[in-house]
Amino acid sequence: MRIRQYPSLIRQLMKDMSQLNQKIWSDYKINIIQIQEEIFAISQMSSTFTNKENLLALAKLLASGEPVVFLTGAGLSVSSGITPYRYTSQAIWSNFVVEQGTRKTFKKDPEAWWNDFWLRTHEKQEFISAKPNPGHFAITHISKRCPNVRVVTQNIDTLHTKACLDPTRIVEVHGSLGKYKCVNQQLWKNNRLFVCPYSTHRVVLIPDLNQYALPNTSLEQGNLRVRVPRCPGCLDPLMPLTLLFDEKYQSHDGFGYARAERWFAKAKAIVFVGTSLSVNVTSEAINVGEKNGAELFNFNIMEDDTKMRGMRWILGKAEETLMELEKAVAQEMTKTGPDGKPRMRMCAWK
Ligand SMILES: [Zn+2]
Repeated sequence: MRIRQYPSLIRQLMKDMSQLNQKIWSDYKINIIQIQEEIFAISQMSSTFTNKENLLALAKLLASGEPVVFLTGAGLSVSSGITPYRYTSQAIWSNFVVEQGTRKTFKKDPEAWWNDFWLRTHEKQEFISAKPNPGHFAITHISKRCPNVRVVTQNIDTLHTKACLDPTRIVEVHGSLGKYKCVNQQLWKNNRLFVCPYSTHRVVLIPDLNQYALPNTSLEQGNLRVRVPRCPGCLDPLMPLTLLFDEKYQSHDGFGYARAERWFAKAKAIVFVGTSLSVNVTSEAINVGEKNGAELFNFNIMEDDTKMRGMRWILGKAEETLMELEKAVAQEMTKTGPDGKPRMRMCAWK
């Protein structure tokens, strides 16, 4: 059996086994993670040549000014101290998160949802104060050199923004910490159907949640409990502008999904970084990319060919491989075309 088939088998095994008794599951999970680490070490040994070849091909595309979309996931933020969502011993993905992370659960008891779920698992001080790592900066630097680069991120940690990426070039497709939406999508008021604009397209910014803190609690102490923030439009409870498990990307303009779709459709290359390719936006990107003949690249720690054939892999820690890419792009851009002029071309993004 080829090494590249192991990760998908392990994922299936983990899924099956999560149904088992929790104690047995925890023991097996530790073993599986050890096996994964060994496979990673082996795959690293055989990846050096492929990395170089694929990295250079992508650097050439970027340097020539072709439209390229980076689609980044949790793997990019690991070295910034953000807990990955899946497939590691510290992952926050669990039945608890899937069960609680819904609009339906929120509506039952917004106060409990905020205090017993959201502030304990997502909007924590360690995530809010996390700093971007060299991988985020490499993407920013590449985007400054190459005006046709766009970034779609699955991460809500705002680290691309903290790394000074131009806000017009990024879509935070799963939402973002510090932004909030109204729960009220449809309600009758004075015999008229009312849809609050903050539930569909307007965003509420709350830079510091401590302003809602209950006595003797704060983000800094790690024990923050809040009174539920209210919508400025209709006074209903606010919820994070984060894609919940029973919500669609199109449910709020703040997710920017229509823009991401346009970028994917125009891209000559789509570059996946640190994503497990297991959410709808990655499937959409792969489908559109394959349909349009775009090149697909994947920066990841482990190769997995179960989902697509034409993917070009660059294996290693994202912060290291992205810095190599940045260097390769800079080198390529010093070259000129046959007419002696730089080879960069511009495209008109919408
Ligand atoms: Zn509202």
